[in-house]
Amino acid sequence: MRKAIFPGSFDPFTVGHYDIVKRGLELFDEIIIGIGRNSEKQDTFPIRERLSAIEKIFADEPRIHVEIYDCLTVDFARQQGAQFILRGIRCVEDFEYERNMAVANKQIGEVETILLYTRPEYAHISSTLVRDLYAYNKDISAYVPNHLR
Ligand code: ADP
Repeated sequence: MRKAIFPGSFDPFTVGHYDIVKRGLELFDEIIIGIGRNSEKQDTFPIRERLSAIEKIFADEPRIHVEIYDCLTVDFARQQGAQFILRGIRCVEDFEYERNMAVANKQIGEVETILLYTRPEYAHISSTLVRDLYAYNKDISAYVPNHLR
């Protein structure tokens, strides 16, 4: 069985993340969306709220599970019995970062990273953009899945 984790902060989960997960379902039998607890980043949306919101989005998809983790991503992959890490790439800057993480995760944990290119129409979307709009009471509905609107 091909199992992947899709790790991230998801603060909040965007249509870009949603698209990567949906496309990942064509590659993997099961995907565990792992919300990493990041002590260095200040949360905008509380982590428990993020968990339940993402669970609702995928309530009808039994092959997707959502978990919170606060360890190294490779250790989380191992705990979950996942052989793969799924990530998305939007731009050159993402590439550099993802390459370093992928090489390290392979070395440390023998976990393979699979990267999917973002759909061009979502390439400008980031959680940071949504957080900024939200902070100034702007409409975020174009950027987040239905359940979060
Ligand atoms: P992190 O803090 O680990 O980068 P994010 O929640 O920002 O976590 O992103 C999780 C994953 O989703 C990363 O692989 C990131 O490149 C990818 N991602 C973020 N935004 C998009 C988008 N608009 N389209 C596709 N992938 C995206």
